Amino acid sequence: MLEVSQLRAGYRGIEALRDIDLRVAEGEMIAIIGANGAGKSTLLNCLSGVVRATGGKILFDGSDITQRAPHRVSRAGLLQVPEGRQVLAEMSVRENLLLGLLARGLRAARYDLERVLVLFPILRERLQQLAGTLSGGQQQMLAIGRALMGSPRVLLLDEPSLGLSPLITQQVFAVLATLHREGLTIVLVEQNARRALAATQRTYVLDRGSIVLQGESKTLAADEQVIAHYLG
Ligand code: ATP
Repeated sequence: MLEVSQLRAGYRGIEALRDIDLRVAEGEMIAIIGANGAGKSTLLNCLSGVVRATGGKILFDGSDITQRAPHRVSRAGLLQVPEGRQVLAEMSVRENLLLGLLARGLRAARYDLERVLVLFPILRERLQQLAGTLSGGQQQMLAIGRALMGSPRVLLLDEPSLGLSPLITQQVFAVLATLHREGLTIVLVEQNARRALAATQRTYVLDRGSIVLQGESKTLAADEQVIAHYLG
């Protein structure tokens, strides 16, 4: 579904990603973990077209999307839930969700409003409420719901657990597990390495812009280097 080779990116000449190779098969749920500033968000933003790669290639279902504009990447079905949720505070929950439809383009609907409200019942109770008045956890659910309204073929999530209580994080991850079971391809960026390793099949570890480790999440969770650096 996704094939990234020798990807490079940076900001004003400062390299943030170096020769990244990554593959995601259809229906897989993978994690990208690493310390602050390792390049996780940059990698996700390159996939969604928000940050332009300076080298290398990104293939999405066989098509080269390396230099494609973000709105065209999302219309192709690669949809991102951005770090910090970025819901539109002055619009209602319903309006935020309906905005997600814009990313669907002409692709078939895999998810609709009813499906999203079944996944996140709290949003049904708050459909008319302004998004800015929701709690952080509810805003995260709204951000995921909005992306689902675009009927993603691949869902990219940037730090969904950021700032959430353990209980809400658990609820959000339970929904991700359901989506994965239903066959959705998911790429998860997380600083919460323990949770990311538990939730996914394979994991890539980023360190200062390079992939330093990769493998089955179960194996990495028992790796001494990973335990010392990320699970300590
Ligand atoms: P975090 O968990 O803190 O979000 P991260 O692993 O997602 O970290 P990135 O946000 O991708 O890391 O940052 C990678 C590097 O690129 C860092 O050195 C960061 O300072 C730098 N960087 C990120 N965004 C920008 C930007 N807009 N302008 C300049 N430098 C940036």
